[in-house]
Amino acid sequence: MIEPKTTSQIAAPNEPESEPGIDRLRILLVDHNAFARSVGRRALHSAGIRSILEATSGREAIEFLGRSVLALDIVFCDLMMPDMDGIQIVRHMATLTAPPAIVFVSGVNEVLLSAAENTARARGLRVIGAIEKPLTHEAVRRALARLGEKPASDGSRSAIDVTPEDLEVALAGDQLRPDFQPKVSLADGSVVGFEALARWQHPNKGLISPGTFIPIAEQSGQISALTDQIMMLSLKQCAAWCDAGMRTKVSVNLSAHMLVDLNLPDRMAHEADRFRVDPSQVILEITESGLFRDDANALDILARLHMKGFPLSIDDFGTGYSSMEQLRRIPFAEMKIDRAFVCGAGKNAKSHAILESSAILGRSLQMTVVAEGIETQEDWNAVHGAGVDLAQGYFIARPMAAEQIPVWLAQWSSQHSAQPDAS
Ligand code: C2E
Ligand code: MG
Ligand code: MG
Repeated sequence: MIEPKTTSQIAAPNEPESEPGIDRLRILLVDHNAFARSVGRRALHSAGIRSILEATSGREAIEFLGRSVLALDIVFCDLMMPDMDGIQIVRHMATLTAPPAIVFVSGVNEVLLSAAENTARARGLRVIGAIEKPLTHEAVRRALARLGEKPASDGSRSAIDVTPEDLEVALAGDQLRPDFQPKVSLADGSVVGFEALARWQHPNKGLISPGTFIPIAEQSGQISALTDQIMMLSLKQCAAWCDAGMRTKVSVNLSAHMLVDLNLPDRMAHEADRFRVDPSQVILEITESGLFRDDANALDILARLHMKGFPLSIDDFGTGYSSMEQLRRIPFAEMKIDRAFVCGAGKNAKSHAILESSAILGRSLQMTVVAEGIETQEDWNAVHGAGVDLAQGYFIARPMAAEQIPVWLAQWSSQHSAQPDAS
């Protein structure tokens, strides 16, 4: 049996301040090359990691991964090793009961890195980074920041156990609310609107994200009640902003499951009227993958929403199955390019090509093109260069409670003439 040697407790010179909790993480660094391991070790130390276990081969990595007592949190894994490649390690990790998160590190091209990333995700692993060698402490920090985030929710898994009965209580009380995430113009940084994103503040279970409860609401038939509530709160907020002198737009997500309710357009128009909000200020985002559930009714409802003046937006564009057909049949005013093609587009040639051609398509169909998931200055520059109109993402702001918006707005307006720099 191989005895694990850790390099923990080795202090790095001039260590920068690290995030709380980082020093408790247990890392497995896998690389057959001794020099690459020493560079990696230094980068991990200067990012604040204290406990690093090193594996000099794929075989050794698998041996360590099998020992649950090691309680590993993250594997930094080289992709190309003589005895085993990173994808074979991924295959093994996927069989573990509680696999650690993974960061791919490689000197080979980015196409291979992203293929490995996709394979690991498809096997249900948590990928928090794909880094080109040499490993730097900045790249390590970015990956560690992702570890703190909730995994991107695809609706298929739920870490928090909630039932339709819990949701009913939430809907009857005031546990559900929208957070708002700004959308800004890439041309001049001006704030053009906010997307309302549902949040559930559960009295015992804490804050629950939509990836957990939207699928439950869809399956239990509560999605209409939920949307009505988020819509009502968003309209109320939009009216309050307007009263305070800020006429802006609000985007609300519509589940495709609601496109069977023929009363929806009348109900929405009535609600907008009740709050004295013009329908042109209320963008309805529809995820393209679900549009065809009930073809005739869906088309009927969308056409009537459009007639009543609500701009329609095709959300997560590029991830559905029949995007082109949807664009031809439905009067969309806005295209939201999925973050899969935005985040990291500056580095990934394929993402960039998809981003650029989507933007060209959107603009030639006279749609406003929005890029979501902008996380870095590089992403901002890439979408700006691709001719996208509006930007949304953590680089600009995370979704926040309405009360936090005035402070954010003041900060943003004082900075945006100089920043973000699109050069
Ligand atoms: P979406 O409409 O595509 O919303 C964007 C999601 O991306 C949000 O996740 C947002 O927090 C996240 N996001 C924004 N910027 C970034 C970024 O820079 N990086 C990354 N990694 N993520 C970013 P959230 O709030 O968890 O919502 C997930 C999905 O849940 C939404 O995707 C939407 O499909 C659905 N959803 C949210 N609220 C509602 C709602 O009121 N009704 C319905 N039907 N669906 C909703
Ligand atoms: Mg959306
Ligand atoms: Mg989206």
